[in-house]
Amino acid sequence: NTPALYAVIGNPIEHSRSPLIHRAFARQVGIELTYEKIWAPIDGFEEAVAAFIERGGRGMNVTVPFKLEAFDLATTHSERAQRALAANTLVFPESGDEPIYADNTDGVGLVNDLAFHGVEITRRRLLILGAGGATRGVLAPLLQQAPQELVVANRNPERAYGLVEEFSDAAGDCLLSGCPLAGIEESRFDLIINATPASLTAQLPPLPDALVGSGTVTYDMAYGAKPTVFMEWGASRGGRALDGLGMLVEQAAESFTLWHGKRPDTAPVRELLREAIRAAAER
Ligand code: NDP
Repeated sequence: NTPALYAVIGNPIEHSRSPLIHRAFARQVGIELTYEKIWAPIDGFEEAVAAFIERGGRGMNVTVPFKLEAFDLATTHSERAQRALAANTLVFPESGDEPIYADNTDGVGLVNDLAFHGVEITRRRLLILGAGGATRGVLAPLLQQAPQELVVANRNPERAYGLVEEFSDAAGDCLLSGCPLAGIEESRFDLIINATPASLTAQLPPLPDALVGSGTVTYDMAYGAKPTVFMEWGASRGGRALDGLGMLVEQAAESFTLWHGKRPDTAPVRELLREAIRAAAER
């Protein structure tokens, strides 16, 4: 019996930690699987997926820049993928005439990671920096937790306003608004999420100090061996700083559960991943 075949697809993909995470989950729940990294050319997503299905692939995680294409390729979608119009998880049929199913587990990954760290969302004031694919994926799951207010701030404010309009029907009693990244109202937030890739190039968005107080959590979706510039900014102003490693593990756990029907324990895998990143940085 050959183990079932899974993969993560992206461009670039070399840095991806998804194989490590999924193999650790599989060991934990006692199932055998093969989990690969697939690099696809920017205009070659569909072809790469077709070749993978041809080889017997049963599921795929999808990362930058293919999440919108993954959504379009699928024939059936979870409600949260439909809401985001983007997918990070695909489920392939055993025979060719069944539909391809798409899900988006990024948002629930973030919400579960915040819960893991005991960070409250309900009735809190939230600020999210960036209006790209990641923000699109997490908006509805965050709004479901009924924050008091959620502000989307983006370099190009039109994209923030667009998201606010698109998600207004999911806002309930939450005050949902958009603004330019350089024009955030100077008041304190409970949770500030950096959903821009700025930290990857050690850039810090222009943020007023007044946003952070001692009860503020600054959360960077980026992660690495050391705290990011954004986390350092939050911590140096008295806030609590978290990175996106837990979000990565939690979104993977959700995909894993969808594929295999078994929920893994994320705590030991968080440790394993933290250690692997530390070791890689020392090499
Ligand atoms: P996108 O390219 O779709 O969007 C990027 C957003 O960030 C845009 O709103 C863009 O603004 C803004 N931006 C880009 N560079 C800068 C900068 N230097 N300063 C200020 N704003 C900037 O990316 P994604 O939304 O897909 O991903 C965002 C980040 O989140 C990435 O670092 C990604 O790795 C991370 N991520 C982490 C996950 C995890 O599990 N931990 C899951 C998903 C994403 P504009 O519109 O003006 O161009």
